[in-house]
Amino acid sequence: MTTCDREPTLLPMAEAIARMSTTITPVTATETQPLTQLLDRVLAQPVHAQLAVPGHDNAAMDGYALRAADGDAPRELVGQALAGHPFEGEIKPGQCVRITTGAMLPAGADTVIMQENTRTDAQQVWPIQTPRAGDNIRRAGEDIAPGSQVLPKGHRVGPVDVALLASVGIAKAWVYRRLKVAILSTGDELVAPGAPLAPGQLYDSNRFGIAAVLQRLNVQVIDLGLIADDPAAIHLALQRASEQADVVISSGGVSVGEADHVKDVLTDLGQINFWKVAIKPGKPFAFGTLGDAFFFGLPGNPVSAMVTLHQLAMPVLRTMAGEHIQNADTFQVKSASKYRKRPGRLDFQRATLSEQDGQCTVSRNGPQGSGVLTSFRGANCYVVLEQERGSVEEEEFVTVLPFDRFIR
Ligand code: AMP
Ligand code: MG
Repeated sequence: MTTCDREPTLLPMAEAIARMSTTITPVTATETQPLTQLLDRVLAQPVHAQLAVPGHDNAAMDGYALRAADGDAPRELVGQALAGHPFEGEIKPGQCVRITTGAMLPAGADTVIMQENTRTDAQQVWPIQTPRAGDNIRRAGEDIAPGSQVLPKGHRVGPVDVALLASVGIAKAWVYRRLKVAILSTGDELVAPGAPLAPGQLYDSNRFGIAAVLQRLNVQVIDLGLIADDPAAIHLALQRASEQADVVISSGGVSVGEADHVKDVLTDLGQINFWKVAIKPGKPFAFGTLGDAFFFGLPGNPVSAMVTLHQLAMPVLRTMAGEHIQNADTFQVKSASKYRKRPGRLDFQRATLSEQDGQCTVSRNGPQGSGVLTSFRGANCYVVLEQERGSVEEEEFVTVLPFDRFIR
């Protein structure tokens, strides 16, 4: 029996992502941005180096540049090469030059002997160890060859990438425009933090969590606030949202309760592609189109909202933003916890991966209810229990998916 036989409307997660990815259209508009604004932008063109890095053969150590062929013989000290101040002449047999780390290797030299491996006086240098040709030299272009690709198109620029781009002299680059994402919460019971709560009310946490994740993704967030469980209000909010944004993300109201109007409004205003995915937490997750915009309807339960945003919406948002994404690395690790599970849904348990006596182990991070946000606190990974898997005993191997920087 397959999952689909058990609950035919539940779409396996991989299929849901595949369907969404083929439905969306990535942004095509581009703009140039200066180096200082490139962090977390997505490159719209590959970046090539116009020069070699290092730009010239240079010393990897402080010492003396000399010719290996002179062996152990003492060398006459004829000058110095400092970083930014090359030695102008050429080193002849029997000569050497004082050299500092990063300084250009003088003509005629083929090795650098470390300062610690020499004895010196004002005029002469005696090698303590026999120098070998090529020692302590960083070759021109050994890091980056001129003309080679430094970063590919579709790459999200990280902090080290900024340094890399600077190292090849790139002062600006072409990137895709940022996505515009409108967010809203639905629920008559919800109150914005800062206001007092009446009996039965609770604070809207999803909108703030979603906005924070989107901030990490570097999208432009349009916060449409809290919307009541009223079809007309939801209709108006979704319509406005779809006119302003590339993507609309709501939370709540996608289950089958009396107050769950989002799905109906979406049917009215746009098209639902699917609205139930075989994952836990987060079974009710709607995806569809709203005019020219795309719509993600996240479940209301706070953990479900975060997990579905992270695992279902995020890869699609990143693809829409022009990013070429790779599957995240997962690891097989022995479980220190038991899990009760029935086959049918892919389960994302919040967990802690740690090392004990040289062995990696992973433990459940406290209670895992779909409203228990503290299950994320201190956790550093998901234990991903495969859709068709049943209960797990201690010491069984489980799949670990480390948290990425978008959720941590
Ligand atoms: P719903 O999906 O609208 O049926 O909501 C499921 C549960 O999540 C209910 O207990 C809601 O009160 C709660 N919930 C819905 N939206 C939010 C939100 N924005 N912040 C915190 N909890 C929420
Ligand atoms: Mg609700």
